[in-house]
Amino acid sequence: MSWTLAIHGGCGAMRPATLSPEQEDSARAGLGAALDAGVAVLDSGGSALDAVEAAARVLEDDPAFNAGRGSVLTTEGRCELDAAIMDGSDRRAGAVAGMTTTRAPISTARAVMEHSPHVLLTYEGADAFARKRGLEQVANEWFVIPGRQAQLDRVMAAGGEFDADIKYGTIGAVAVDDQGHVAAATSTGGLTAKRWGRIGDSPLIGAGTYADDRACAASATGLGEAFIRAVGAHQLAMRMMIGGEGLQAGLDAVLADIVALGGNGGLIAVAPSGEAAWGFTTPGMYRALARDGEREIHVFADDL
Ligand code: ASP
Repeated sequence: MSWTLAIHGGCGAMRPATLSPEQEDSARAGLGAALDAGVAVLDSGGSALDAVEAAARVLEDDPAFNAGRGSVLTTEGRCELDAAIMDGSDRRAGAVAGMTTTRAPISTARAVMEHSPHVLLTYEGADAFARKRGLEQVANEWFVIPGRQAQLDRVMAAGGEFDADIKYGTIGAVAVDDQGHVAAATSTGGLTAKRWGRIGDSPLIGAGTYADDRACAASATGLGEAFIRAVGAHQLAMRMMIGGEGLQAGLDAVLADIVALGGNGGLIAVAPSGEAAWGFTTPGMYRALARDGEREIHVFADDL
């Protein structure tokens, strides 16, 4: 048995003409560093759960992605962070939403899973729990990078509506370890100009994040409202378990369902067999894969 790791850094309107070479390079470098962190765990016999957390932490700290540092801004100009993690071996799960001061939302999600009787904690309560667990605290400004204010200003000038040229920058990781166990992690700042405590699919178990050794581990990016309504990540697992569909066919069908609901987005998934699949309905998706002797990093749809 060997291992497989797939990660994403969000899907969206990225095309060779719209993404600067610097943006493309920093995204590729960030994906490479996240792969390295996850591979180091899996290569030394570590668990899929540890690997997805390690990969997600690297992407959360990387300002090139909309998760942790570099997250998009709410209408009030601050970052509110969501994350979820799930272990496919026993379907334990932990999640946080609306955090504002904890550096590593994904590790807080894991702490919720391992050190509380709950699955989802939100807002001040989630940060208070993280503090109690000794997780590093930062000022909310630490998450805010310069380009995000300009992006918020653009969206607000357009009436606060979601940007058609959007690059969803949510990050995610899915892995299967050498024991055949799968795990999934997703972390995000959500959508630019979100308000009223809006929460997307990423921290909702079954919507943007799901793992079950009987089927697959999956992490989504895209219009969260559509993934919530489609229960996208769980739908993929059920297509496989109950419907007998294959990993890639099931994933493609879930994305068709997202489009049918008026949404768009992307998914990555792995099965306990080691098979990996991904897909997206946008021009591009930051994505990467590693397994025995194989390593790929892609941005655009037609990247080879
Ligand atoms: N799915 C995320 C959300 O709706 C956004 C993203 O993928 O960037 O919060």
